[in-house]
Amino acid sequence: MNTITTINPATEEPIKTYNRLTASETAAQIERANKAFQSWKNTSYSERAKLMNALADIFDKNKETYAQLTTEEMGKTIVQSRKEIEKCAWICRYYAEHTAELLAHQTIKTEANKSYVSFQPLGVILAVMPWNFPFYQVIRFLVPALMAGNAGVLKHASNVQGCAFALQQALEDAGFPQGVFSNLNVSSDAVESIIENKHIVAVTLTGSAPAGQSVASIAGKNLKKTVLELGGSDAYIILEDADLEKATDLATYGRLQNNGQTCIAAKRFIVLEEIYDDFINLFKQKMKAAKMGEPTDEDTYYGPLARVDLRDELHEQVTKTINQGGKLILGGNIPDRKGAYYPATILSDIKPGMEAFEEELFGPVASVIKAIDENHAIKLANLSKFGLGSGVITENKSRGEKLALQLEAGSSFVNKLVVSDPRLPFGGIKTSGYGRELSGYGIREFTNIKSIWID
Ligand code: NDP
Repeated sequence: MNTITTINPATEEPIKTYNRLTASETAAQIERANKAFQSWKNTSYSERAKLMNALADIFDKNKETYAQLTTEEMGKTIVQSRKEIEKCAWICRYYAEHTAELLAHQTIKTEANKSYVSFQPLGVILAVMPWNFPFYQVIRFLVPALMAGNAGVLKHASNVQGCAFALQQALEDAGFPQGVFSNLNVSSDAVESIIENKHIVAVTLTGSAPAGQSVASIAGKNLKKTVLELGGSDAYIILEDADLEKATDLATYGRLQNNGQTCIAAKRFIVLEEIYDDFINLFKQKMKAAKMGEPTDEDTYYGPLARVDLRDELHEQVTKTINQGGKLILGGNIPDRKGAYYPATILSDIKPGMEAFEEELFGPVASVIKAIDENHAIKLANLSKFGLGSGVITENKSRGEKLALQLEAGSSFVNKLVVSDPRLPFGGIKTSGYGRELSGYGIREFTNIKSIWID
């Protein structure tokens, strides 16, 4: 029997062992999903909304249990795990309320008697999801997909199978018909045959670029649509007129939230030379003061990384950057304790070509880059192969807006860390992926955008 054992990254102790599905069990689940889709697609938006509101209530009711499970499986601080569950409930309620309007027929004036665009469901969507927001990443895909009338199957990250099954149970408890959503506990090797299955009509993946490339090429070979959300190395430009207290507060929270493992987290801080040294001094004080500790403690600012191998990989990237000429200002050592811990780390004097400039550092490591003026800052920001989020910190909002429009990214926020919000589209450009999630743009990704003409 093929199994997977989840491991608590704070203690390195095993949590639970789950049986993997065999190929025929997987095919049977997909068959069941397709059967469920045949009736689900005919339900009304109000029927779906009723179930989605019931799911939101389940998130409220089970918030503490789900938060503890998240913290146990991937090390997020308990305070942030609770926030993740609250956000899941918000997304359910948002789409319950707005889907009818987001997917309403759009009348287009032509020579026809009547012509319009309708948005119809596609079928069973496969979601390949990561561990960093084990509930939220799934919900971000699933809620709009189901509200649009699709069914979903999930291949979740191996280390968060407890969360994956809890989600499946939550939908069952909310009253969703059997098969409309199911968790396929399989390894990534099984994804190719799942994509090839005739009932799978499209795939969405959030994760690393190599996983995205693999899934997109298999989907391409089978002519199935993909949406990819693949991390980033978000640049935050800190202009010389920025309020340094505010800028360093944002930088500290941005780099340490979710133990540094957020795709849209601030990772490269591009600071104008007039304030470069002052920024580093204050940022160092704040990063040093942030408490690393047990993720279950209420006052812990950041906990361990999700897995020991990910921590070791991060440390290699830090070491490589230092060998390439980056300056270590804070942290940079593996602590002598059990668990996948890594300290808040600052690397300065980061330049194009260095590991910390070119690649995503998925952990509590900040890279500080000096720019001579705002044009140089934009150039440095846009040199990245990634293009997910980005930001500008300045006291001059119109100057911030002008720069935000020049940043090559799916989102640019002025004086605020990039966050996902169901009312706004979310996604990236360049190697951060393609397609959008959330908002009206996201819900239409997995619909047949169909033209109707009545002559
Ligand atoms: P992966 O991209 O490997 O994992 C994400 C999901 O994809 C998991 O469900 C994983 O399954 C699956 N997967 C991995 N490889 C394949 C493949 N070839 N075909 C199909 N599915 C696949 O992330 P890691 O956990 O290895 O993290 C590595 C790096 O990825 C991080 O350091 C970070 O840079 C980036 N990342 C970005 C995220 C984001 O939010 N954009 C989230 C997570 C990681 P399984 O767990 O079974 O391997």
